[in-house]
Amino acid sequence: MRAAADTRHAISASRVPGYYGQVLTCLFCSTSPDNAWLTSEYGIAVPAAQPLTAGHVVVAPRRHVAGFYDLDVEEQRGLWNLVSEVRRHVMSALHVESVAIGFEDCEKDQGHTRVHVVPRRPGVELPHGIEWVTE
Ligand SMILES: [Zn+2]
Repeated sequence: MRAAADTRHAISASRVPGYYGQVLTCLFCSTSPDNAWLTSEYGIAVPAAQPLTAGHVVVAPRRHVAGFYDLDVEEQRGLWNLVSEVRRHVMSALHVESVAIGFEDCEKDQGHTRVHVVPRRPGVELPHGIEWVTE
């Protein structure tokens, strides 16, 4: 029953052109706050769908924008506060000494910007196409 309803939703969402169609089919916009690891007024933090290593968390703004700098300054600050909180939790829970922070923007109108928080461990390669800040 539930699968049929989900399929119907996906088909109707894919027919909605432009911005609202993207929002309806966007992983971050459709994630329930109940399934998020941490939330704030400005963003949600969820486990990475394809983690580079255990504890890889993705932080996304509440608003569907392609680039970090498409957010206004208050939203950027709010998102950064959430990234800092996630960083603190990851380092303390996993006993790692540092994390890599990666900014991943999307092509204009083609997705939802996000920030990766990846525990630094030997052998973990940080992929190209993401702007990494490492400690
Ligand atoms: Zn979105």
